[in-house]
Amino acid sequence: MGRRTVSVVVVLVCLGCSIAAFAQSTDSFAQSTDFFVQPTTPTPTTALRARVFQVRPFVARVDGEPVVDEDWLNAQIAEANRVFEPAGIQFRLGDVVPIGEQHARLERRRDRHALGQFMGTGVIHWFVVGFLRDVDDPTVTRRGVHWRPKGYSKKGEPRKHFVVVAKYARPHVLAHELGHFFGNRTHPEIEGNIMSYLPSDAPRSFNLAQLQRIRFFAQRFANTGELAVGNME
Ligand SMILES: [Zn+2]
Repeated sequence: MGRRTVSVVVVLVCLGCSIAAFAQSTDSFAQSTDFFVQPTTPTPTTALRARVFQVRPFVARVDGEPVVDEDWLNAQIAEANRVFEPAGIQFRLGDVVPIGEQHARLERRRDRHALGQFMGTGVIHWFVVGFLRDVDDPTVTRRGVHWRPKGYSKKGEPRKHFVVVAKYARPHVLAHELGHFFGNRTHPEIEGNIMSYLPSDAPRSFNLAQLQRIRFFAQRFANTGELAVGNME
């Protein structure tokens, strides 16, 4: 075993440590932030090839017309790709699947749960609707949501989840909801952060802690087979 081989072994061992710490801390988000901020030097995880996940759009129709057009979908995907690029993740838009007018207005929890009937495997399910109401405060209109539908997850399999974006949402909202999909639960009060509710005229981005969480969840989705993975051409 030459010197080069030894150093490779050491790197792999250290990588194993950091992944183990990751797995532990994501189960407890309250204490995870500091850990994620610490590493500033590139680790072997940042050198992984970019992964491509398919996002399949399910677009509600009203009076026979889709609530958004292809340009709208492409603008959301383009912004998601810009924001996720530092995480080594890209999204490819799948073929549009039309869904009925009864799914165009999501007023209550059960309206969101009902979208679970359209879910398959291997892709990120993205529902685009005409209207989305907050389910806790009916006076509030939402632009998007990350949701876990009741009654569609099988025992022993990862719990199903999807994202919803309303037609009046600005182009960064899909990226925000995908940020939740990839493990970022909170809305930090950081101006310009894609997960923040604060207004921003500047392009939005993830911070280092969020990017590392995204990489961890991308790996998990790939490992469990929840998402099929392609590579950058
Ligand atoms: Zn959010």
